[in-house]
Amino acid sequence: MEREPQPHVVIHPLGPVDECILRHLVVTVEHACQLPCFIDQKLQNPSYAYDPVRGQYCCQRILQWLERCCSPHPCQVLAVTEVDLFILVFKYVFGAARIKGKCAVISLNRLRPQYYGEEENMALLYQRVAKTALHELGHSAGLTHCRRRTCVMYSSTRIQDTDAKTAEFCDTCRELFRKSFQTASRA
Ligand SMILES: [Zn+2]
Ligand SMILES: [Zn+2]
Repeated sequence: MEREPQPHVVIHPLGPVDECILRHLVVTVEHACQLPCFIDQKLQNPSYAYDPVRGQYCCQRILQWLERCCSPHPCQVLAVTEVDLFILVFKYVFGAARIKGKCAVISLNRLRPQYYGEEENMALLYQRVAKTALHELGHSAGLTHCRRRTCVMYSSTRIQDTDAKTAEFCDTCRELFRKSFQTASRA
């Protein structure tokens, strides 16, 4: 019988992404998931998901592509990209993941203060990246949106929502989240 590999999380840059941001993310994810987290190879810029009418990249297509190319690996995948993302019913999204899916994607584009005409602020950017990543990993873990405004699973439709919530799961969400990542059946 083959031995089950240890569950872990891999971060894939999707196109060029600042290495510092990825390293911060590793620490955040390891702490939250209580699992090892690695930065893996850079994947191609998601040109296959580009919508020329919207000038943005389709999350569903990116997730499908990731699921295809990462499916042999028994781990959770978090892709990080600079390109602007959308899903059909929204003008834009900060990230996306299927409920109980193995892949999640987040975009840095609208997390940067400069996007809103503000000055660069790396501390604020890291906070937003952490919140967005944990939120999408929460969906991968099977969590839906939480009604507590401070919980990281609160839905962010605007950057103000992201800034208002914390980078922490509420007690209920945290328990579900940890349980999901510790369950061997995910592997
Ligand atoms: Zn969500
Ligand atoms: Zn919650």
